Amino acid sequence: MEAAEGLSLHRRLFSQGPAGKGIPCLYKDASRGANWISKPMSQSQAISSELFRLTQDLVNIPSITGEEEACSQFLANYLADRQWKVEAIPVSQGRFNVFATHGHPEIVLSTHLDTVPPFIPAREDAEFIYGRGSCDAKGIAAAEVMAAQSLLDEGVSDLGLLFLVGEETLSDGARAANETPRGSKYIINGEPTCNKLALGTKGVLRVDLRVRGKMAHSAYPQLGESAVEKLLDILADVRKLPLPGDEILGPCTLNIGVISGGCAANVIPGEAQAQLLFRTVPRQSGAPDLKSQVEELLRGRCEFEFIRDTPALRLEKLDGFETDVVAYSTDLPSLTNWGQPFLLGPGSIHVAHTDGERVRKWDLQQAVALYGCLVRLLKTRN
Ligand SMILES: [Zn+2]
Repeated sequence: MEAAEGLSLHRRLFSQGPAGKGIPCLYKDASRGANWISKPMSQSQAISSELFRLTQDLVNIPSITGEEEACSQFLANYLADRQWKVEAIPVSQGRFNVFATHGHPEIVLSTHLDTVPPFIPAREDAEFIYGRGSCDAKGIAAAEVMAAQSLLDEGVSDLGLLFLVGEETLSDGARAANETPRGSKYIINGEPTCNKLALGTKGVLRVDLRVRGKMAHSAYPQLGESAVEKLLDILADVRKLPLPGDEILGPCTLNIGVISGGCAANVIPGEAQAQLLFRTVPRQSGAPDLKSQVEELLRGRCEFEFIRDTPALRLEKLDGFETDVVAYSTDLPSLTNWGQPFLLGPGSIHVAHTDGERVRKWDLQQAVALYGCLVRLLKTRN
């Protein structure tokens, strides 16, 4: 966030709070010009160094999806050492979500601990922390922990922290958590949104196709049936499907992510496959259902299976927060029993999953302040 944006955010937070009182969460630090921090400088420095250290400690524990146990255990111990009541929510053999509470957890801060491969250890320079998960989403986990600690220090209670496994593939950690909700009214999920409050997330519809043909010598195509040509015809028709749009989330998009088939140039291919993924938007009333349209187009022409169907989400706008929409999906559609969802986190999704994954230290600090603001704002509703 640029300094000028921070300033206008500060003004809005103070001028548009409930009952005209403003939300007392950001203080001006004169030594840093137009920058805004959540605490006086001496406390802020202690929080920041712990924030950066925790981020790097988490990054340095490999936790590629399916192998999160050591990272979950580290964070469980970290929170237990700081007087949080910590519980492991089992997900699958050796894998568990970490749920930590202070009082009755009416507001829960949440993100995921798993990462995409490969593991990249942490390093830092003056501006950034680098490494796998620094941006997506271990820096976010650290910012949530530090925000929650600061809130407790101020006397804000009844908070929860929920750190999930499995977000990068099937959201199995979120689905396991959703089976045992704890009565929270709000869940604030963290993903890289450049510290903007997301107004919505696109959904995901993935379908895998398999086409069968009949192998033959390529000199005698009339004796065979090309699975690749059949697949190409099907894909051409799929690409002609009219895709809906949404005024907030933008257009629904299609990616033909994988195609494969055949075995040699001189053989009529007997089999071909494709994997398609739509980034979906909420269905307008009266509009056709995309999944049914895809089903209708494919039926009788190939074998197909819907591998994933995660709905798009619209999220509430709050005064004082910069907003954006995100094209990716999150754990939120799988956390429907945890209360009203919000989505906000430091860092850019454009560097997540890349070799150069990194998060700006200032953005992490800003996130600690923003999570604090969001929790205080939601507390005023109770
Ligand atoms: Zn993520």
